[in-house]
Amino acid sequence: MIVCGACVMWVVYAILCAGALVLVVAAKKEVKRSVRKLSECPCPSCGVAYGYWTAAQARERHIAQCEEIQRGRPGYRINFVREWEVECLACGALGYYGFENNRLRGSQELIRGE
Ligand SMILES: [Zn+2]
Repeated sequence: MIVCGACVMWVVYAILCAGALVLVVAAKKEVKRSVRKLSECPCPSCGVAYGYWTAAQARERHIAQCEEIQRGRPGYRINFVREWEVECLACGALGYYGFENNRLRGSQELIRGE
């Protein structure tokens, strides 16, 4: 069987594109899962669940803050905190959601250093 070089290149290209697509879909699912998890978390202060809108806003705010800081230091590679700051709509208390480990901390825990 004779296989031309161009055919092999197209197959490799297709495999790479499929792999990239799988990674993008997995990343989007992970983001949705993290937002949903935070939305279901009860506020550490009053116990009311944050809700999807508040969780999504916390994520958007984090991204915007990171982008703004990065724009101010274009030559630097900044290792941002992996937490979304979330404000409870019911009581106004701040919480900090670690989107990589799905842990929520209240501001009092930060003060105590937990
Ligand atoms: Zn609250």
